[in-house]
Amino acid sequence: MRQNDQVKILLVEDDRSIAESVVDGLTAEGHEVAHAATGAAALAAEGYDMVLLDLGLPDMDGRDVCRQIRQRSSAPIIMLTARTEEFDRVLGLELGADDYVTKPFSFRELAARIRAVGRRTVEQLADSPSADDSNLPQEVGPMLLDRRTRRMHLNGLETQLTAKEFDLLAFLATDIGAVRTRTEILENVWDAHWYGPTKTVDAHVASLRKKLGHSDWIQAVRGVGFRLEPPA
Ligand code: CA
Repeated sequence: MRQNDQVKILLVEDDRSIAESVVDGLTAEGHEVAHAATGAAALAAEGYDMVLLDLGLPDMDGRDVCRQIRQRSSAPIIMLTARTEEFDRVLGLELGADDYVTKPFSFRELAARIRAVGRRTVEQLADSPSADDSNLPQEVGPMLLDRRTRRMHLNGLETQLTAKEFDLLAFLATDIGAVRTRTEILENVWDAHWYGPTKTVDAHVASLRKKLGHSDWIQAVRGVGFRLEPPA
């Protein structure tokens, strides 16, 4: 992400008129835009800072494209969804999307979401460790959490986490043993924009517990939220 807010954007959209107007608008704002009209072309693209991804593509399901982009890139993804398409927000989050815009959208609306997602990413980068001591990997019992490289080792072995699993774990680990409410978790790990589906948190807690190998790592505090602690 550039400091001047200008980003290299990959637009994945098969509708030519939408694509043209989005490309024109973003280019006018000073962004560099690459356009892919198919899922396959999107997966072949490289070197972007952000992805605008149409859910309905001719060759692939946008959800699969989202999942596969997320596996190879940490660039924020904004889903472009049609009102008529059933887009499950929870699923979108689980696939690694950062935000979504419902068609038909105004260019202003899209530009605002791009700025918001870009700002969050810059803040995350700013929050994330650089060279000083506070940014050394955090040890939590047998777990080593490295926010700089976004890697987690458990008992010396690297454990693969999705982007959101890592964010959730890193957030809970900011205060070991403290209870975090679902709302706090949604605000910090996701975005207020996604409000409502708090079961998203539970789904991610469940998958993290599985990867941590012990459900005691993340304890549910009934009616409140969750706390992270190494199992006794
Ligand atoms: Ca489409």
